[in-house]
Amino acid sequence: MVTSLPPRSTIPIEETWDLSSLYNSSDSFNLVLENLEQEAKDLNRKFQGKIVDSSTIILVLTDYMAFLEKLVLLSTHANLAVSTDQTDDKAQLQSSKFGAAAAKIGSTLSFITSELLTLPKETVEQAIEESAEFNVFLKKLLRKKPYQLHPEAEKSLAAYSSTFNAPYGLYNTTKMVDMNFEDFEVNGQQYPLSYVSFEGDWEAEPDTEIRRAAFDAFSKKLKDYQHTTAKTYDMQLQTEKTTADLRRYDSIFDYLLFNQEVNRSLYDRQIDLITKELAPHMQKYAKLLQKVHGLDRMTFADLKISLDPSYEPEITVEESKQYIDDALAIMGPDYIEMVDRSYSERWIDFAQNKGKSTGAFCSSPYGNHPYILISWTGRMNEVFVLAHELGHAGHFYNANREQNILNARPSLYFIEAPSTMNEMLVANHLLKNSGDLKFKRWVISSIVARTYYHNFVTHLLEAAYQRKVYERIDAGQSVNAGILNTIKRSVLEEFWGDAVDITDGAELTWMRQPHYYLGLYPYTYSAGLTISTQVSKRILNEGQPAVDEWLEVLKAGGTKSPVELAQMAGVDITTEQPLRDTISYIGELVDELVRLTNEIEAE
Ligand SMILES: [Zn+2]
Repeated sequence: MVTSLPPRSTIPIEETWDLSSLYNSSDSFNLVLENLEQEAKDLNRKFQGKIVDSSTIILVLTDYMAFLEKLVLLSTHANLAVSTDQTDDKAQLQSSKFGAAAAKIGSTLSFITSELLTLPKETVEQAIEESAEFNVFLKKLLRKKPYQLHPEAEKSLAAYSSTFNAPYGLYNTTKMVDMNFEDFEVNGQQYPLSYVSFEGDWEAEPDTEIRRAAFDAFSKKLKDYQHTTAKTYDMQLQTEKTTADLRRYDSIFDYLLFNQEVNRSLYDRQIDLITKELAPHMQKYAKLLQKVHGLDRMTFADLKISLDPSYEPEITVEESKQYIDDALAIMGPDYIEMVDRSYSERWIDFAQNKGKSTGAFCSSPYGNHPYILISWTGRMNEVFVLAHELGHAGHFYNANREQNILNARPSLYFIEAPSTMNEMLVANHLLKNSGDLKFKRWVISSIVARTYYHNFVTHLLEAAYQRKVYERIDAGQSVNAGILNTIKRSVLEEFWGDAVDITDGAELTWMRQPHYYLGLYPYTYSAGLTISTQVSKRILNEGQPAVDEWLEVLKAGGTKSPVELAQMAGVDITTEQPLRDTISYIGELVDELVRLTNEIEAE
């Protein structure tokens, strides 16, 4: 049963994360920030106009790297403090203050990139040869040369960076602060509603009348804010379009994919192939849900119910640890030590409270340990969510130790591979240890309804919608709520065919996703899961050697491109094969669910 969320101030400390390791609590945040602003000015004075040869390149980058290592701890603190309570004015102020200071710092230090890129190519190449430390960073930087603007223009743009980031902040303010949900009523009874409770509970509520009423009440509130949210989103899109044009990219897609180090065909393939080939399998799954639940019609509001709600094991935080330890043990003692520390040293924020960001995420500041945000509902499903976030943690726990701060992060294309890998490891572990039909069906339906649904359906449909939006923007047009609703609806209808009724309110789903402020992110979920599905199969079949290769991939961080990283783990993503294999694997899982359901019903 959902209850109103308590304010953050009443949450027991053991359910919260400990942010004190991010900066020495005896120093005030402001003081450290002021010192860093001064340091940036010192760096500017020391090097501006003086980066002339390979040895000064190496000197400036050495200082810059040390500077970034300090900055990242503050930025992480500013972001994390506000993420657990958007209504906390103090945290909001700290975050804005940091944003403003970071923009100033960015502008003060923009000369580094500018000067490096105005140097003759041979000078940079000489530094690449002389320095193993900066080799990868400089190679990536050289790729940017054709898109670089005049140093003064770069400086001005950097000074505006917090303004450029403003749409994302506005989006969150509308969603988390302004939008207040009233209780909704079913048969004379009142039920509380919030973003977190809708996405965490009501969407999966087994009682059809309550679930659909929650969806209607939720959609009604979204609708009140559709125009503000659309305008905010359009501002983001127009900023991206202007940047792409100013920097002379051929298209907004080329601009947004540039840092991902993948070409357009890898992007398009994910969207096209999944929309076409996965849709029939997922329609079959929707029909199975409808049959099992005896629904008159299958609506958009019914897609998140579990196959067997009477069989959703409850789990405490303490119990989750045992499952996760057992499932991830295959990753070795060093990995498990990280898992243990994440619980015992309060790296994880489990609380459910008012104003907390929805969903779950992991933040892995360089030189510190990872932090995980999750809103623990007590359902077994959370083991998958937590394993996923620990996958991100395990990735950067390894990469941050092995690589310098400039080389630790790989392309976004690869980011969701280690996280979804852990979901597969949990599923494989649970399946291996169960002979019970109902438990087996629960595990497989968790993989289908959570892991694959989330990454191959939810985010993929976001990606298909996002591509249509960007096509519009690239043609010089803008968007408003009506246009976004129409695009979203058409994407949903195309995918679900006649298996699902796309009810009123479904078209507003575009309002729910913060990913649209992070570029071409949504499609990378299915890209990452394609890689992890293939590697997890190798781990099942080959054991230790496959695990060892995977750990090497994690340690490589951002020193390799996504194609190279996948190759290290034995997967060739330059072909369609891994994606096709993954789609047919999902088809097999859905068939297995149909088979198990028939067996259970025949008992
Ligand atoms: Zn993730």
